[in-house]
Amino acid sequence: TYMDTADEAVRATCDDATICKRFATSKGYWKDPYIQYFARSVGERKAPEINRGYYARVKGVNHLLDAFIRNSECNCQVINLGAGLDTTFWRLKDENLLPKKFFEVDFPTVVALRKLKGISCLMCACFLLDTQSLDSDRYCIIGADLRDISALDEKLKKFHLNPDLPTVLLSECVLVYMTPSQSSNLLRWAAEIFHTAMFINYEQVNMSDRFGQVMIENLLRRQCSLAGAELCQSLDTQKERFLKTGWEHADALDMMTVYSMLPQDDVARMECLEFLDEKELLQQLLQHYNICWASKDKLNLGNSAVCK
Ligand code: SAM
Repeated sequence: TYMDTADEAVRATCDDATICKRFATSKGYWKDPYIQYFARSVGERKAPEINRGYYARVKGVNHLLDAFIRNSECNCQVINLGAGLDTTFWRLKDENLLPKKFFEVDFPTVVALRKLKGISCLMCACFLLDTQSLDSDRYCIIGADLRDISALDEKLKKFHLNPDLPTVLLSECVLVYMTPSQSSNLLRWAAEIFHTAMFINYEQVNMSDRFGQVMIENLLRRQCSLAGAELCQSLDTQKERFLKTGWEHADALDMMTVYSMLPQDDVARMECLEFLDEKELLQQLLQHYNICWASKDKLNLGNSAVCK
């Protein structure tokens, strides 16, 4: 059916990010010794502007995530929604920044066929492994459809989600595949169950101009339904979706701005890795993605100010 094809195309996107990250890390843009378990070969060359875009995405998201974890002195939870083959858990472990518990959610088939395969290559089991989920004291990987909130809620609780702990929710290139009402339900659910939380969302923005339209056409060609594209109109629509669903505070920056705010010594090192001919193309690309972060801060951890 059409829905199955569309969902299958969405599931297949979990490889895109991993393949691009594997290539960029093979060039030295940043370090990730774990990505090789989830993308077996380095794959074909990616353009320098793509690599720089991924660099900004990874550094920008990590900055917010790490700041929250530090603020709470690791006494927190992380929930990566639509995590795909992301390796953040292992980075935090190496950097002594592991939260109390790190959850990942993705479609059951992505978790069963892709994620857990990679992890079992990565380590021999000191975890309880079955085919639908992984549960350890610190790391929990759940197969669930993010559009079905009651099932999601039930599964997270089954694996000891603690609503009273400060919590970071993360979604990178995930909400755009859901209808506005489906993603609103997810954001509202999160705002209702946590009193101290930050939601970090990375995705497309400024999609109504010509460049944005071409980006949408390219994704549609792969039969991915971009049901949520209308919320990627502007930084304001990105913030409003949170403010309308119970979040107290929201900020958004396009990735061009994020790029200019990153530690410039490492940016200078990174820019020397590959010659970039098309400066304008990089700018356009960066202007069409954003990081939006929203917070609720009953415990007064100061999480809305982490980027200031
Ligand atoms: N966040 C990861 C990253 O940045 O590397 C993966 C991004 S990938 C473009 C989108 C991911 O979201 C895929 O792994 C897909 O399976 C997942 N996803 C999309 N819609 C979903 C849904 N309704 N339920 C669960 N997972 C979903």
